[in-house]
Amino acid sequence: MSELLHHDVLIVGGGLSGLRAAVAVHDAGHDVAVLSKVYPIRSHSGAAQGGVNASLGNHPDGADDSWELHAFDTIKGSDYLADQNRAEILAREAPARVIEMEHWGAYFSRFDDGRIAQRPFGGAGFPRTCYAADRTGHHLLHTLWQQCQKRGIEIYPEWQLTDIVTDAGGARGVVALHVQTGHLQVFSAGVVILAGGGHGRIYGSSTNAYINTGSATAAAYTAGARLEDMEFVQFHPTTLLGTNILISEGVRGEGGLLFNSKGERFMGDYAPSVMELAPRDIVARAIQTEVNEGRGFEGGYVQLDIRHLGADVIKSRLPGIRQIAMDFAGVDPIETPIPVQPAQHYSMGGVSSDENGQTDIEGLLAVGECSCVSVHGSNRLGGNSLLETLVFGKRAGDHAVSLLETGRGDADAAALADALARRERSIRDLSDRKSGERQAVIRREMQEVMTDDVGVYREEAGLARAVSALAALKERYRGVTLDSAGSRLNYDLIDALELGGMLELAHITALGALARTESRGSHWRTDHPARDDERWMKHTMATRDASGAPELAYDDVIVTTYEPMERKY
Ligand SMILES: Cc1cc2nc3c(=O)[nH]c(=O)nc-3n(C[C@H](O)[C@H](O)[C@H](O)COP(=O)(O)OP(=O)(O)OC[C@H]3O[C@@H](n4cnc5c(N)ncnc54)[C@H](O)[C@@H]3O)c2cc1C
Repeated sequence: MSELLHHDVLIVGGGLSGLRAAVAVHDAGHDVAVLSKVYPIRSHSGAAQGGVNASLGNHPDGADDSWELHAFDTIKGSDYLADQNRAEILAREAPARVIEMEHWGAYFSRFDDGRIAQRPFGGAGFPRTCYAADRTGHHLLHTLWQQCQKRGIEIYPEWQLTDIVTDAGGARGVVALHVQTGHLQVFSAGVVILAGGGHGRIYGSSTNAYINTGSATAAAYTAGARLEDMEFVQFHPTTLLGTNILISEGVRGEGGLLFNSKGERFMGDYAPSVMELAPRDIVARAIQTEVNEGRGFEGGYVQLDIRHLGADVIKSRLPGIRQIAMDFAGVDPIETPIPVQPAQHYSMGGVSSDENGQTDIEGLLAVGECSCVSVHGSNRLGGNSLLETLVFGKRAGDHAVSLLETGRGDADAAALADALARRERSIRDLSDRKSGERQAVIRREMQEVMTDDVGVYREEAGLARAVSALAALKERYRGVTLDSAGSRLNYDLIDALELGGMLELAHITALGALARTESRGSHWRTDHPARDDERWMKHTMATRDASGAPELAYDDVIVTTYEPMERKY
């Protein structure tokens, strides 16, 4: 397969956002293919638990809900960093996207009257999170996968994107490595859509799959796209002690309560009106404070108690959570509280893109967790990310079609051939290097730096330490060497290639956090504990300067009708 392969639209990523975009392109009559480093149904979307938001008003307490209130909650939850016109699109288009998934066959839990069930979630004024028990992502991903199969959409499974190819007319295709054989291939495309997911694995403690390394985000940055708001990292308050497997917000939505080691329901001290259902940044800080001030349990955790819900509710609405707690912590939540602690969960930052997925590079769109639209601002509300994949996946697919229809011109064939040759050379150099450091050592150090110094609580000295440690790791990475020779299933090679990008993303995250001398949403500076709208109601934009080093600039937030106010719950 060394000939040039061409598709009108090439989508990198087979999670929910990539598959939703693929369906949109196909249904508009264009040729589309999906390239994914894992088999699509193994994408992290399939691990989503709690649900997807839409103001359907199905819940008995939700009759007065509306898309406008959903938009307001999203913007307030974002601590006024979301672009308001885009949060409005997210909320307005939510009901249509969720009902469409229902029509395509997605299982949802239901109320007795047959309508889609909805549960309360943090920071939401009404119960508006639609769910399929605690396996919502699994059901949505399989539904979209079936829709792609039914349409005969071409899939390239286990192909690893390494480079985005550009010429004077913007993005023209990608270079990718076939994981099974090690074969390098160039794919040309009229439009490239990146749907590569988040980059949580730059942290050691994370709920994310090991595949969430942000390699598509890093490739866009290398190709010249700006990365937006990278310092905003969501720490989920309730992950299982030790393993950091997610314990869904749906558990608190169903009535789960948090207790410290003194037996106190401590959320009353932090968010008295909504208690456990405060947004994630607030609950994560509350738990971390309890632990830091000596009111946690030995080992640094608090307890999430659902015993009062009773065995029937736990078994029907939270079966996956119960299984996780039994398998990985040895506790049955019907009888014993679950030990939980905060850990990295979601990447608010990503490739800067508009409401149609358009990035700074012509012909290159980005969608889903790898993008920053920005609808989540400095803190994402639970249930809004699955929604983002559906709403903006469709919009990016539609936009790709309109770009094709206005004409993308001809690619410079030399640019495609050169990119392939460059990558072949760099892999050969890496494989030939006889001495140097192992990638796994550098990766572990990077993850420790991020967890220790760029976590829930941040301050200048720690962030400065992280920035210089990451710069030093980038230097050491230049001499990285492989343990495994050969081309078939060489994950040592793939991990080494990905690590270069992860170090860039980690470095930009720490630089952005050091520069931002305020506290907003997930970014909490103990040395600057107040939000500062005057100076910092701005998006951080990172680009590569001429020497290849990251450079920060700032863009205005788009405000429509929601005046920033103090965020109290
Ligand atoms: C445990 C967990 C639970 C969650 N629960 C919820 C929830 O209940 N509600 C909610 O709203 N959100 C939830 N989220 C967040 C949400 O699931 C994700 O943000 C969303 O599913 C991301 O979808 P995506 O399509 O952008 O990316 P993903 O589903 O992560 O897919 C990324 C795709 O990109 C491909 N890819 C990446 N890099 C490359 C490369 N270099 N080459 C080729 N392919 C590549 C991968 O193979 C994969 O197919 C949860 C997240 C986690 C981790």
